[in-house]
Amino acid sequence: MTENLEFPREALIRGEWRALPRRFPVVFPATGEVVAEVADCGIREAEEALEVAVAAQRTWAQATAYERAQVLRRWYELILAHEEALARLMALEMGKPLKEGRAEVRYAAGFVEWYAEEAKRVYGETLPSQFPHKRLLVRYEPVGPVYGITPWNFPAAMVTRKAAPALAAGCSFVLKPAEESPLTALYLARLFLEAGGPPGVFQVLPTSDPEALSRPFLEDERIRKLTFTGSTPVGLRLYQEAAKTLKRVSLELGGGAPVLIFADADLERAVAETLRAKFRNIGQSCVAANWLFVEEPIAEAFAQLYAERVRALRVGNPLEEETDIGPLVNEAALRKVEAHVEDALARGASLVVGGKAQGLFFAPTVLLGVKPGSRIFQEETFGPVAPILTFRDEAEAISRANAFPVGLAAYVFTRDLSRAFRVAEALEYGIVGVNDGVPSTPQAPFGGVKRSGLGREGGRWGLEEYLEVKFISVGGI
Ligand code: NAD
Repeated sequence: MTENLEFPREALIRGEWRALPRRFPVVFPATGEVVAEVADCGIREAEEALEVAVAAQRTWAQATAYERAQVLRRWYELILAHEEALARLMALEMGKPLKEGRAEVRYAAGFVEWYAEEAKRVYGETLPSQFPHKRLLVRYEPVGPVYGITPWNFPAAMVTRKAAPALAAGCSFVLKPAEESPLTALYLARLFLEAGGPPGVFQVLPTSDPEALSRPFLEDERIRKLTFTGSTPVGLRLYQEAAKTLKRVSLELGGGAPVLIFADADLERAVAETLRAKFRNIGQSCVAANWLFVEEPIAEAFAQLYAERVRALRVGNPLEEETDIGPLVNEAALRKVEAHVEDALARGASLVVGGKAQGLFFAPTVLLGVKPGSRIFQEETFGPVAPILTFRDEAEAISRANAFPVGLAAYVFTRDLSRAFRVAEALEYGIVGVNDGVPSTPQAPFGGVKRSGLGREGGRWGLEEYLEVKFISVGGI
């Protein structure tokens, strides 16, 4: 399984690979086999890494933007050169099909490339003064040492989307990857060192006890920023903890996206894009289509064509080239998906295709006639299930989409340009894909409103999250 694949399993602290007697297993969800036993960090490692990060922060902030950019540029090139190994590691640790893993590596590298370029463009400003003897300057400085927590669903991209802008800005970064997917994070860290990244600037602490490991970072005044991607309940707790030391926070939280498909849409395109929006990453994406609302006159035609395409998706071992749908990440994920489908059917929905589990594999599923009280209508499913619902007109579509408590991504399919603008502007979501099922890209802002979080990643917005503003007033001139 891991033949010809060489990868680190130890914690990265102070630029050294730290072997620990405590280990925890990373499991291949397709078969249940153990991929590796990984170093299990605790409070001691956290406290050491914290001190290292505080010290490394000072020197890294003093490196010139050109020096930081060069390290990032080399890191980007190395990530691309290791695309295959990283894609395999992701397939092994969380079940992402290989072809999607390769695409994720390129997406993840894209953030490093973008911020390597942007590091040199953190321009200050001068302000006109009403006093002839004063000069008013604005400078951007790194916010300080950062603690980052990432989820398992995009083990490479969630790391670079945070670490690249932080490092570009001159911040040191301690990463706690998800228990399910520490191997990709450690591999990325090894490439950072190879790229010339100074020891201690980027540290990775795998752990089986995220709460205990996080405590020292949350409580210490010197950690100036918390960046988190994960579920809304965990995000809310961390927000409260971080408030005690008044840290800056970025919270990329739960999603669950509505898709609005109007009768005037290009049906083929709507089906193809919605298929990607729903089934990419086995439905385990924060911007995954969670509810497909179709305008009544085309609902039947859409459902038929959609079900046909869903039937053609290939479920299989994520390490095989042709696989479209791999296993879900773990038992808990499978149980949630099963419960959503069972509950929807019990409340009167009908099953068009799928609905069955085998091991951790859940067949891609389409449901019709889901009743509003169903669990699937109220929660993020995070799995390969597409409930198709209908609406009568534009006003109803918008109000149903805005009734959800989340606000990360929404999708609209229409050929009417006026409607495209009207609906995109009316939707209370951070990201709107218009005739586009995969809008995320490194140069654009990614993030949500309402219960989907705070702050943005990507583009210049992602860099601002790691910059502090300093005003210098010079008098007596
Ligand atoms: P999760 O919240 O359970 O875990 C995410 C991370 O938080 C993991 O690293 C985990 O170890 C850590 N964690 C859990 N409890 C913690 C605690 N008490 N203290 C400190 N750290 C803790 O989320 P998950 O189920 O792994 O990920 C799926 C969720 O993430 C979904 O809701 C999805 O929408 C969301 N997500 C959001 C985005 C986004 O950009 N908005 C991107 C990807 C995933």
